[in-house]
Amino acid sequence: MSTDPKSTTTNPPATSNFLRGIIETDIAAGKYANRTDINGHPQPPVVTRFPPEPNGYLHIGHAKSICLNFGLARDYDGRCHLRFDDTNPTKEEQEYVDTIIDSVKWLGFDWHDDDAVHLYYASDYFGQLYAMAEYLISAGHAYVDSQSADQMAANRGNFAEPGKNSPYRDRPAAESLDLFRRMKAGEFKDGEHILRAKIDMASPNMNMRDPAIYRIRHAHHHRTGDQWCIYPMYDYAHPIEDAIENVTHSLCTLEFQDHRPFYDWTLERLAEGGFFKKPLPQQYEFARLNLTYAITSKRKLLQLVEEKVVEGWDDPRMPTIVGIRRRGYTPEAIQLFAERIGVAKADSWIDMSTLEGALRDDLDPKAPRATAVLKPLKLIIDNFPEDLIAECSAPIHPHHAERGVRTFPISKELWIEADDFMEVPSKGYFRLFPGNKVRLRYGYVVECTGCDKDAAGNVIAVHCSYFADSKSGTEGSANYKVKGNIHWVSAKHALEAEVRLYDRLFTDPNPDAGGKDFKLGLNPDSKKVVTAYLEHGLARALPDDKFQFERHGYFVADRVDSKPGRPVFNRVVTLKDGWQAK
Ligand code: ATP
Ligand code: MG
Repeated sequence: MSTDPKSTTTNPPATSNFLRGIIETDIAAGKYANRTDINGHPQPPVVTRFPPEPNGYLHIGHAKSICLNFGLARDYDGRCHLRFDDTNPTKEEQEYVDTIIDSVKWLGFDWHDDDAVHLYYASDYFGQLYAMAEYLISAGHAYVDSQSADQMAANRGNFAEPGKNSPYRDRPAAESLDLFRRMKAGEFKDGEHILRAKIDMASPNMNMRDPAIYRIRHAHHHRTGDQWCIYPMYDYAHPIEDAIENVTHSLCTLEFQDHRPFYDWTLERLAEGGFFKKPLPQQYEFARLNLTYAITSKRKLLQLVEEKVVEGWDDPRMPTIVGIRRRGYTPEAIQLFAERIGVAKADSWIDMSTLEGALRDDLDPKAPRATAVLKPLKLIIDNFPEDLIAECSAPIHPHHAERGVRTFPISKELWIEADDFMEVPSKGYFRLFPGNKVRLRYGYVVECTGCDKDAAGNVIAVHCSYFADSKSGTEGSANYKVKGNIHWVSAKHALEAEVRLYDRLFTDPNPDAGGKDFKLGLNPDSKKVVTAYLEHGLARALPDDKFQFERHGYFVADRVDSKPGRPVFNRVVTLKDGWQAK
């Protein structure tokens, strides 16, 4: 895996990885050729799926999985299903289904093909999952256990000790079947009985010690309502969902490696029972994304929202997809990031600068340029005629002349950055100080003559005089050689706007490593709000429009708080990485 953005930029779109290797081998061998899909249509040889549980907002880690699953399907003429793994009734909601659909679409992926919509819900398979469980009982592969939860835990053993068989393990299949049907009919309370696979209580793999496959849960489900009071366990449902949909390569994160034997066991037994044809779906594991200066656990993100550390799921500092979208990230930048980090078989940390680098690389050639003064100080050109308004122009994009120019007025009073003036210059300072000349970018050369101060000694205005024949783009301009070049906006014409200067949410690169309290690593300066003066043309910015504010970074018109003619801007990212040296 590479964390150096430059090393992989030259060979897009597809960097080879172990999953591509497996898929190419399977295609060459014709492993999944000539199959029909869930709708009876011919099926491509590669079918992947992205299977979120609708219990929260997606984050950048999910984005990696989405880009991987949909990206592989795209690159091998296959397809990728969006499937809601909604087998747990108590944590799931329609709100999450909607935001997940929206996020996957926004990332640029689609689950429609010519004749079908490949959007699926595990809850649509509840009937089949139930019928297969009855089969497993009849075939002697599953039994209803009536131990208490405590007894079951005690008999499970641990890594050092084998488990003990349940006293109910050898009850006749007919008795288990009867109990299972009565579980379904609602005759028992939660936890009174449970359906377990009959595998091996002495297995060194704890997941193979007669795992639970169905439990009683008297709970309302957001799609099936009160139709069911028993629900399948994730480890049982997941392989079956894949097999029903004829998924070929089922990609999941490394923590599921130890679950793979049960995945295979379930499908083998059901293939014996005639439910599925071989070849069966195959599970492969890849390293989850861990991003420095961020957390990617739904539970911890929820805590940030609930404790109002951030302003919501879509706070521009959140690593959620709705958050980074509002921050000004583009789908292309995220796809580029996913491509650059690749997939590996061992866990590692990816540096936040890799994500930000992909964003800069995506925005730089696209974003129109504009001028913004974020920390304003008045500059008065004393010899500029009171009523004169001269027009200046600048390229919309310095490397794309064909995109044209933007124009803005210059007048006697301007706003400049407070940092562009020093009464007593430090060594190597080329900008405004008394006696020094600088160019007002795209305008005139001026010479600083002094400043005004308030009673406390703070500089409140800077004075200068201008050279009328020095305007950029005119012949005279070549006669002036100055080292400093500062940006400005005409005070009379500027657009006053709220600008939110966002930075990383954490100062700790690994905020939740080793079970640390991640709130201790929060960055107290992750959001600063300033009143800025902007080039007047920015009044036309629409929500989500992105710009490079020259010398400052990339900014986006906030999609939530901007009003027509009155955009609010978010800093997406600075021009250069200021964190590298810290
Ligand atoms: P969390 O642990 O934050 O609750 P999850 O893994 O339980 O997340 P799911 O909705 O089950 O969330 O995830 C959907 C898919 O996204 C799964 O295939 C999962 O493996 C993948 N995924 C989740 N987090 C990451 C991550 N950090 N990196 C890569 N893939 C991820
Ligand atoms: Mg999960």
